[in-house]
Amino acid sequence: MPTASQPPQPIQLLDLPAQHAPIRAELEAVLHYSLDESAFIQGPAVQQFARELSRYLGGPHVVPCANGTDALQLALMALRLSPGAEVIVPAFTYVATLEAAAVLGLVPVPADVLPGTFNLDPQAAAAAITPRTGAIVAVHLFGQCADLQALRSLADQHGVALIEDNAQAIGATFQTSRGETWVAGTVGEVGTTSFFPSKNLGGFGDGGALFTRDEARATYLRQLANHGQDRKYHHAHIGLNSRLDTLQAALLRVKLPHLPAWTAARQYVAARYDAALADVPGVAVPNRDPRSTHVFHQYTLTVAEDVPGRRDALQQHLAAHGVPSAVYYPLPTHLQPAYAHLGYRAGQFPVAERLCRTVLSLPIHPTLSDEQVAYIAAVVRAGYHSDEGGS
Ligand SMILES: *Cc1c(COP(=O)(O)O)cnc(C)c1O
Repeated sequence: MPTASQPPQPIQLLDLPAQHAPIRAELEAVLHYSLDESAFIQGPAVQQFARELSRYLGGPHVVPCANGTDALQLALMALRLSPGAEVIVPAFTYVATLEAAAVLGLVPVPADVLPGTFNLDPQAAAAAITPRTGAIVAVHLFGQCADLQALRSLADQHGVALIEDNAQAIGATFQTSRGETWVAGTVGEVGTTSFFPSKNLGGFGDGGALFTRDEARATYLRQLANHGQDRKYHHAHIGLNSRLDTLQAALLRVKLPHLPAWTAARQYVAARYDAALADVPGVAVPNRDPRSTHVFHQYTLTVAEDVPGRRDALQQHLAAHGVPSAVYYPLPTHLQPAYAHLGYRAGQFPVAERLCRTVLSLPIHPTLSDEQVAYIAAVVRAGYHSDEGGS
């Protein structure tokens, strides 16, 4: 099928200026207000934002912090695990999931993921449990919930904590077999998220938050994120300096009310991609777990490996036609050089390793037009056929 060699309008992998354009006046007003208010640390907007985000997520305690990696670290600190305790993490995730455990002297223990959802395989997690296991970290990768019901039961059965790294799936829900609707990030002892600018709810710099249903744990987390301080200049715990800037909270308050519409726009783009790409041989559209809503932080294809290098050839073909794409993630966690001391080898987590060779994420942002989506899908289709035989 012939395709134009360049898109109708330039296509970005992420288009924050387009997303911010309709709310620009409000954002500017907040910037000016914050400058005048001068309450840069722990100003009123921080707690206002926490309350509003709590309402959006169905009422958990929300503890804002400096970024999503700190949120993971604070979540693990709040569990008071002994040094050397093991933390089960998916072998296919962003490195922060492991890093938070490693910097605390805990031992990240990767477990393989499921080929369909790319999320932690509950059976692999079960097999990784030892008497030293302190926590399981479920990552809701690319916007879809891990098997929360299986992982919640597994954690309960072994008396270990469940942490949810919800940096990519804010607003996603999970339907249990008992007919309950669980909100991602609020099912584990602690859930974490990130407001890194590219996330579904992105700030204007770094930011993050923790969620918990336990009030005492929320208080402890709030203290840990502020130098372990329980009252001014009195430090009950060894903590971190990990607060969300007032300015970030104030700007995030402007964006939060738009999140449902932005999520719906992402889901609409995903459905159009699904329809346009479902029958392209060798390209698999994202698998949907019928129990989870998918908030499409990423729209991630897998490309067949019948010819070596086929994914990379497709990516080059897309780039040549003005379509940016990305590989999240090119290296599984257990093969990252920083974690070589853990002693894992290639071949130990075959699903994660295969995904690193086959995944390709297409542009998916709320302002992508129908025309752009159709163009991208046509370029994928043509690229797949024209690259027969690799390059
Ligand atoms: C972005 C991300 C993080 C880290 O968040 P930061 O705010 O960048 O520290 C952690 N885990 C996952 C899965 C992420 O996508």
